[in-house]
Amino acid sequence: MNLGIDQLPNACDVLVVGAGPAGSAAAQLLARGGQDVVLIDQHAFPRDKTCGDGLIPDAHRALHRLGVWDAVMSEAQPAHYVRCIGPRGGRLDVPATLAVLPRRRLDEIVCRAANAAGARMFAPLRFLSPIEQGDTVVGARLQQGEVMRELRARWVVLATGATAPALLAAGMALRQAPSGVALRGYVKHPNMATHLDVLEVVWQRALAPGYGWIFPCPGGVFNIGVGTVDYGGAAAPNLRRVFDNFTRLHAPARELLAGGTLLGPLKGAPLRCTLDGARLSRPGLLVTGEAAGSTYSFTGEGIGKALETGIHAAEALLGGAARDDAAVRADYEARLLALKPRFVLYTQANRANRHPWLADLVIWRARRSARLRQRLAGVLDETRNPGDLFTTKGLLRLFTE
Ligand SMILES: Cc1cc2nc3c(=O)[nH]c(=O)nc-3n(C[C@H](O)[C@H](O)[C@H](O)COP(=O)(O)OP(=O)(O)OC[C@H]3O[C@@H](n4cnc5c(N)ncnc54)[C@H](O)[C@@H]3O)c2cc1C
Repeated sequence: MNLGIDQLPNACDVLVVGAGPAGSAAAQLLARGGQDVVLIDQHAFPRDKTCGDGLIPDAHRALHRLGVWDAVMSEAQPAHYVRCIGPRGGRLDVPATLAVLPRRRLDEIVCRAANAAGARMFAPLRFLSPIEQGDTVVGARLQQGEVMRELRARWVVLATGATAPALLAAGMALRQAPSGVALRGYVKHPNMATHLDVLEVVWQRALAPGYGWIFPCPGGVFNIGVGTVDYGGAAAPNLRRVFDNFTRLHAPARELLAGGTLLGPLKGAPLRCTLDGARLSRPGLLVTGEAAGSTYSFTGEGIGKALETGIHAAEALLGGAARDDAAVRADYEARLLALKPRFVLYTQANRANRHPWLADLVIWRARRSARLRQRLAGVLDETRNPGDLFTTKGLLRLFTE
């Protein structure tokens, strides 16, 4: 881990840029598949990543696929319910396989697994721009401090997360602005750990067009935050103010801040959602993870789909050894487009962030309908077709279920 630029080779099969969940997942599978992989990140690892740290079922499945689930769960705080809380105080506990582990640890585990599989990790090393031959990417210009180097690669995989500079430099950004923003802090409150052992997601008018969360981490620490996605072209809301509203109006959040110890400052970060905002590929280059918009709207969850899209990038590249570049790109893009219906559902559900009374309505109905509760659990663990739950037609149907 953290090799220096002086050890950088001149060429490799695949250069993976960004060692978050998407990049490390891709790097591990590519290395396991026999590719010579260079993985780089602009930050030396371990590094923090501003996040809610919640692992929903898609993340668990991907962690299994990468062979790191045991390592993650030996440190994570497991949980068995997402508690949805509406503005009128209605509560609904949706069962699922869940866990919380701060990203500093999660990302290190996934990155170390890539390293163990044979991917060489160089950091801090920044991707500046692609090297192009005609329209084809054949490598990248990289920088560490004042030193710049060129690295030739058969493929470049961009997994640079929600910030736009690398996408812009590679000519892949269709949109510079993020889809949303979120803010989080860590609060230590060991007494609350005895009775708050679910992932709470809260909708209230004072948080609109967004949501709040409290997720229990290991060691009596809680990740508490607020976020907002797709605020319709308006200026991004002042998340500090939204956070203050959350900790004033939601009793557990109030209790946490009043009796706990805030560990470090609150931190905000952008989100790129809905599988849009970037081209997915060009000759010699694939875009994966949040750089490709792989984070869900509505709740801002994206670790699982970042891992999953990274896995798809690796599988498309490995399957493409005997095929041409166009076939690899077509395969990869088809894999991502197949995920689109799930993103559409979360985009529709995002209406509840703008109109929190919709959360009340769904919670109220689901508390009275076992079938609807099952459907929501099936959407969360992705065992059921997402359907049209949050369209106008779907909402009207709530009264007949
Ligand atoms: C406040 C907040 C709360 C969230 N809560 C949750 C949650 O509870 N659960 C959940 O599933 N998701 C959550 N998300 C979303 C989640 O953080 C992202 O979906 C996830 O991190 C995306 O993974 P990734 O690998 O695509 O990108 P990242 O994790 O962002 O990794 C990208 C990496 O690329 C590196 N990089 C960027 N540019 C360059 C460059 N030019 N050169 C070299 N390296 C570069 C970065 O340093 C970084 O390490 C939250 C997001 C925010 C902002």
